[in-house]
Amino acid sequence: MTVTKTNASRLRHLQGKRVFMEDFGCQMNKNDAELVVGRLGRAGWSRAERPEEADVVLYYTCAVREHAEERIYGRLGHLKRLKKERPDLVIGVMGCMAQNQKERIFERAPHVDLVVGTSRFEEIADFLADIEYQDRVVALDQGEVAYERDIHARPVRHQAYVTVMRGCDKFCTFCIVPFTQGRERSRTPEEIEKEVRALVDDGVQQVTLLGQRVNTYGLDLNRGETLATLLQRLESIPGLGRLQFITSHPTHIDETLMRVIRDHPVHSRYLHLPVQSGSDRMLRIMNRGHDVESYRRTMDMVRRIVPDMSLATDWIVGFPGETDEDFQASVRLQKDVGFQTSFVFKYSDRSGTKASRSMPDDVPQAVKEERNQILLAQQRAISEELHRGRVGTEHTILVEGRSKRDASKWFGRTSQNWIVVFSAERDFTGQFVRVRVTDATALTLFAELV
Ligand code: SF4
Repeated sequence: MTVTKTNASRLRHLQGKRVFMEDFGCQMNKNDAELVVGRLGRAGWSRAERPEEADVVLYYTCAVREHAEERIYGRLGHLKRLKKERPDLVIGVMGCMAQNQKERIFERAPHVDLVVGTSRFEEIADFLADIEYQDRVVALDQGEVAYERDIHARPVRHQAYVTVMRGCDKFCTFCIVPFTQGRERSRTPEEIEKEVRALVDDGVQQVTLLGQRVNTYGLDLNRGETLATLLQRLESIPGLGRLQFITSHPTHIDETLMRVIRDHPVHSRYLHLPVQSGSDRMLRIMNRGHDVESYRRTMDMVRRIVPDMSLATDWIVGFPGETDEDFQASVRLQKDVGFQTSFVFKYSDRSGTKASRSMPDDVPQAVKEERNQILLAQQRAISEELHRGRVGTEHTILVEGRSKRDASKWFGRTSQNWIVVFSAERDFTGQFVRVRVTDATALTLFAELV
C-alpha cells in the first residue's frame, strides 16, 4: 500500500467528480475538512449533498470520544450497500481516527479505500489519483503540513477558522491528541497574518484562531512569539471585526495576554479554559500540570484584568478512580467560578492513551450519568442567573442568520459568545448590530434592535 506522488495529467481525468464530506469533532477538524474540499474544488471537483450523489465519500474523523468513532463506523456500515452497487465509489477516512486506528479500520470496514492521517490532508488530490491505480491507500505519519488554503472555499461567508498550530506536548492521560497530532508545531506569524488579511479582504468579519493548546502558540518557534504577540499583530487588520481563539490550557494564561485582549475591542471576551476536574488528586492522575488553586488564581486574574470576560470550561466525570468526594470538588469549583458555560463529558476509554493502558474504567455508567446530570443542572442554574442579570443591557452582536428555533427571528453572538435572538425586518447576516436584551433563559438572550 504505497503512495506515490501524482502529476497534473493524472489528476485531469478526475475532474468533474463530486465529493461528499462530513466532519466530526472539533473546530480544527471542521477547518481541515474545509481545506480538503477547497483543495478538491481547485482540482475541478464539486460538492455532493449526499453520499448517494458522490463519487468520493470522505469522513473527517475524531478519536477523542468513543461515541464519535462509533458514529463514524455506523456511517461506514451504511455505505456498504452503496459500495456493492457502485464498486467505483471511493470511501475515505481522514483525521484523528485514521491516524489512531490505521489499518484496523479496514478490519471493521473492509470497503474503505483510503485512510489519511492528520497531517496528510493537503495531499488528498494525489491520494485520490493513486486510488485509481491501487486497491487502497494509507497515508499516515506526522510530516509538516503546508496549510495552503483556498480563501474563497468556506461554508460561512462572514467567519473563518485559521489553524495557527498543531499538536500538543502535554500528554494528559485521557487524551489521544498528542499521539494522533504529534508535537506542537506553530505556523509563522507572517504566514498567519497573510491568511487572515486575505480572508478579511474576502468579506470575513470574525476569525477564530485554532490550536489544540493555542495559548502555547509560538513557543516552539524560539523567536519570542506568543499568542499575545500574534493577537497584537492581527488586531489592527482593517475590516476585521472580531478575533478569538480556542482551545486553551490553564498553564499558559498570563497577564500579558489578558492585557492585550483588554486593550483592543476586536478581541472576543470569551475564554474557554478546560479544567476537567475540581479535585487535585484527579488533576494529578490526569497529568494536567496544574492544580485547583492555580486554576482559581488564573480565573481571578482574568476577571481582574478583563471584567467582562465570559468563562467556559470542560469537565470529565467518571474518570478512573473518581470518588464522590472528587466529584463534589468539581461541583464546588463550578459553583465558585460561576462559569457561563460547561461542556461535560462522561469518561470513556480511548485506546492508545495512558489512561487506557494503566487505569481501569471503574466508575459505573449510571454513576457517570448521574454526575453528568448534576453538573449540567447546576450549570443551567448558574447560566440562567447570569443571563437574567443582563436584561436591559446593550450589546453589539455579529448576526449569524435565522434563528434555528423560530425562523421568523434572527440570531447572533456577542463578543462573550452569548447567543442573542432578535426580530428584524431585514437580513443583517454577517453584520454587526446593536441590541438591547429584553428577556433571558439559561442558553439564550432575547433582544430588540437598538
Ligand atoms: S492539553 Fe488538551 S490536547 Fe493536549 S493532551 Fe491535554 S487535553 Fe489533550
